[in-house]
Amino acid sequence: MKYLSVVLTLFITHGIFAQGTTIPAKPKLVVGIVVDQMAYEFLYRYEDVYGSGGFKKLVKEGYSCENTHFSYIPTYTGPGHASVYTGSVPAINGIVSNDWYNRETNSFTYVTSDPTVSGVGTTALTAGQSPRNMLTTSICDMLKLSNQQRSKVIGIALKDRGAILPAGHSANAAYWYDGSMNGWVTSSFYMGQLPQWIKDYNATAPAEKYLNKNWSLFLPAENYKNATADSVSWESVNIGEPGSKFPHYLNFTGNSELIKGTPFGNTITKEFAEAVVINEKMGKGNYTDFLCVSFSSTDYVGHAYGPHSVETEDTYLRLDHDLSEFITFLDTQVGKGNYLLFLTADHGVSPVPQYLQSLKIPAGTKTDVQMTADMELQLDKEFGNKNWILTYTNQQVYLNYAAMDSAKINMEDIYDALKTYLLQQDGIANVFLIDELSEAVYPEGLREKMINGIYPKRSGDIQILYEPYWFDAYRPTGTTHGSHYAYDTHAPLVWYGWKIKPGLNYDPVSITDIAPTIAALLKISEPNGCVGKVIGGVVK
Ligand SMILES: [Zn+2]
Repeated sequence: MKYLSVVLTLFITHGIFAQGTTIPAKPKLVVGIVVDQMAYEFLYRYEDVYGSGGFKKLVKEGYSCENTHFSYIPTYTGPGHASVYTGSVPAINGIVSNDWYNRETNSFTYVTSDPTVSGVGTTALTAGQSPRNMLTTSICDMLKLSNQQRSKVIGIALKDRGAILPAGHSANAAYWYDGSMNGWVTSSFYMGQLPQWIKDYNATAPAEKYLNKNWSLFLPAENYKNATADSVSWESVNIGEPGSKFPHYLNFTGNSELIKGTPFGNTITKEFAEAVVINEKMGKGNYTDFLCVSFSSTDYVGHAYGPHSVETEDTYLRLDHDLSEFITFLDTQVGKGNYLLFLTADHGVSPVPQYLQSLKIPAGTKTDVQMTADMELQLDKEFGNKNWILTYTNQQVYLNYAAMDSAKINMEDIYDALKTYLLQQDGIANVFLIDELSEAVYPEGLREKMINGIYPKRSGDIQILYEPYWFDAYRPTGTTHGSHYAYDTHAPLVWYGWKIKPGLNYDPVSITDIAPTIAALLKISEPNGCVGKVIGGVVK
């Protein structure tokens, strides 16, 4: 009996069952994939041009939770990655936005900024980053806590926050892409210097071979049937380009930051992910390792051109190709059946308002600057000239308490005045006083999403909700996300690989259910702030 278990252990740890005859008791590697700004529909919209080895393979051979939603506002990248991996919400994990206003310092705090650390592999002052602003553990922390830190955990993404938050507090490393260094970098939170293999890898200038060419269509143009005309008035135009038309000229002058806004940003992420798996020997030890990969270029492209553009279709087509190669790589390197993979998103996206308007669908934009000026003017009219609003960000108003004290005006008076004024304006759906959210009257499902998004030390005083397909635009073209509406909350969620049986699930699933489901599969504790539930169909 003892001999048998030794033999089995040898078989399991050496991957002798790698080709799927028997699967190990625990996966050798978990691969979490977050596709930045991927709407659920993108799993299917481009089916006619997807190959058989990427998204289609995941859905066909995996288990797809078709009705998965975020459960808070705002639906942004930082909160999204945190919610996927903590199984929690901003009210508990503290990740209320990508940037929030800090009343004590009268300045904005970036979600992963950390003044106690500095960049490694880069001279960028912004590279002092860590997960410290995240108040709860990630599923990766729980994996490491379960086995005396024997699992290896690495997060990677073009975006710093997309790498740092998933991997958690006790990660071995998080790497993100710094165009000014033309390479992958990290911070002193994780290590004193980059591993030699990454220095060597960066020395090969991984982005250059893509930037020395133009961004041309992957397939002949007649294949792109799921998009508007190539060049339309609501698309952004890159600096140095004559218009928003293919081929896109990349104008590489030595700083490769611009690769992030092309599908090749995803390709270099995939290539780096493979290099990490090989060089860090992930999935080769006796304990489950965890690789968190976030594909950020879909978000940059989506913001610039919108979700109905040829650019977005081409970006998903190329990502599908990259995914296909990545799955083949994992099958070879780690072994089919030895790794558990899940794919989801950090938020969805709104179609471009100008496009919607052209189809007679109600939509529109505001700007933070104009909203602030209008509200300030209204308060000046009612209560006298003062600086009443410290800032308006993330659809929240941060009021100036000192001004209110000196004028003896209380919060309710300001709120009543702003609500009366705002409800006369186009595009405003409702206004709530954050302190009194518990007493407010809500439409179906909204109460939970609002309260889940509020962490008092970091949140504002008044919450403004726009009507559907309205948002604060940060430029006159393109689009964004962030609302509680279904187009921003509905994400893909597909499980694939180790012990996953094919299936489709249409029951309501919350993004916060991902982390406890991984915990159940690995037989470890869920993260400390977890509010999700195990998805029964995945673990059966
Ligand atoms: Zn975005």
